[in-house]
Amino acid sequence: MSEDSIFTKIINGEIPAHKIYEDKRVIAFLDINPITPGHTLVIPKQQIESIWNLDSDTYEYLMKIVHTIADRQKEVLNPKRVGMLLDGFGVPHAHVHVLPLDGGLESSIARHLASGFKEPDHAALEQMANRLKF
Ligand code: AMP
Repeated sequence: MSEDSIFTKIINGEIPAHKIYEDKRVIAFLDINPITPGHTLVIPKQQIESIWNLDSDTYEYLMKIVHTIADRQKEVLNPKRVGMLLDGFGVPHAHVHVLPLDGGLESSIARHLASGFKEPDHAALEQMANRLKF
């Protein structure tokens, strides 16, 4: 069996996360290094490296929750758009990035990268999680 991913450690409560939603199959928590405030990761509890390897039922359920998270971000944060991103080069555990956007995704990422590495702002993340959680 492959070793536990950092996201499986979050699921198992071995490392903390700013959770906003959890059920039997899926968990959503704030990205520790947000591209925009409210940037959320939605992941299946089953540790599978790529989203494209999920069985169709798990994939469809995950995307249903992604939609619910997008609705929640719209309701609470009122962004112009909610963006979605798939990458997966950082953490080998399927995940969908869901991001509130007031400008284009590409320019948001460029701004984020230009601002350089910052330590996670856990106070801000906790405040945001308290607003978004349901
Ligand atoms: P990707 O490049 O799509 O694999 O993205 C992985 C994401 O996971 C990055 O945006 C990281 O900031 C985020 N991340 C890594 N570790 C944690 C963690 N412990 N809690 C929350 N987000 C994390």
